[in-house]
Amino acid sequence: MKEFGYQRALDVSGALALLDADPDARFLGGGTNLVDLMKTGVERPGRLVDVRELPLDRIEPTEDGGLRIGATVTNSDLAAHPDVRRRYPALTQAVLAGASGQLRNMATVGGNLLQRTRCGYFADVTKPCNKRDPGSGCPAIEGEHHNHAILGASDHCVATHPSDLGVALTAFGAVVTYETADGPGELPLTDFYLPVGDTPHLETALPPGALITGVVLPPAPVAANSRYRKVRERASYAFAIGSIAAALDVRDGVVHEVRLAFGAVASRPWRAHAAEAALTGGPADAEAFAAAADAELAAARPLPHNGYKVTLMRNLVVAVLSELAEEAAR
Ligand SMILES: Cc1cc2nc3c(=O)[nH]c(=O)nc-3n(C[C@H](O)[C@H](O)[C@H](O)COP(=O)(O)OP(=O)(O)OC[C@H]3O[C@@H](n4cnc5c(N)ncnc54)[C@H](O)[C@@H]3O)c2cc1C
Ligand code: SF4
Repeated sequence: MKEFGYQRALDVSGALALLDADPDARFLGGGTNLVDLMKTGVERPGRLVDVRELPLDRIEPTEDGGLRIGATVTNSDLAAHPDVRRRYPALTQAVLAGASGQLRNMATVGGNLLQRTRCGYFADVTKPCNKRDPGSGCPAIEGEHHNHAILGASDHCVATHPSDLGVALTAFGAVVTYETADGPGELPLTDFYLPVGDTPHLETALPPGALITGVVLPPAPVAANSRYRKVRERASYAFAIGSIAAALDVRDGVVHEVRLAFGAVASRPWRAHAAEAALTGGPADAEAFAAAADAELAAARPLPHNGYKVTLMRNLVVAVLSELAEEAAR
């Protein structure tokens, strides 16, 4: 492992200045992804700027009735927060479906959104990989890709984003806030991750050196009737092979509002806009849910060994929306 320096930042301007002073420096959250990648040589920063002591560890109501979640809030604190549990239950379920209790105690919101793909070739520095080493190739396309992307991928990379938390935040229209030396900025989560195209190594629209300060959840009454369902290859402590965050408001048997986002199918959490549009104003029944899933998945381009994900996601949409419709009718 390459030798590196370590500094703890105590305020946001100090953190930005430390990063600015050293082009080889990186922010450190809980370290549960970055340090693992440093051990394998995928990441080789010369300095870590620890952001965990920054005053970004609160969850507060916003003036318009939403929630502001600080970037250093741990995954455990986020999942347990009473407002999150009551008003955005799918968010609590998504976080609790990820990793383990020990990891969630360390992992931060900012770090979770910026965690890297779990593609095995990316993690193995002896293999080519366009994301790690631009222009070297993508062995996953001809090789091991059973848990790779079916939506929005390219001939240059077919990796998926592993975050569960990000899927629920995407369904609820969350906005990422950040600070740079030039001032603050914000990005809706749907614009936060860049399309893969021929530059899979460029993953987010964050300006260089930006510090994520938090995530803002807009008020979303529909989110009170929401659910996160994750399918994985073993019952716990595993990444998704497909997941869904869904929220549903049904009035007199008609879909008044619906939110849907998919996980583990694309290089970013995938907001299912086509399915939402197909459902809104129509009947809340299994036939309509299946047709909406088909509308979204019409864009799927599966590889030889991950076509099962199309069926999996269709079944997840029908099952979870049917459960939510039943609950709404009670
Ligand atoms: C065994 C295992 C199983 C896991 N299972 C799951 C799972 O099922 N679902 C899931 O979603 N996740 C899972 N994870 C991933 C885990 O959730 C992430 O590692 C964690 O959320 C990353 O957060 P962190 O604070 O530790 O980030 P770090 O490792 O500290 O940082 C990750 C990246 O974010 C950057 N960064 C951190 N904070 C900021 C900030 N404020 N501003 C700008 N950049 C920042 C760092 O520079 C780095 O590039 C698993 C991890 C492990 C090790
Ligand atoms: S899918 Fe992406 S991350 Fe995986 S080997 Fe190909 S380029 Fe690398």
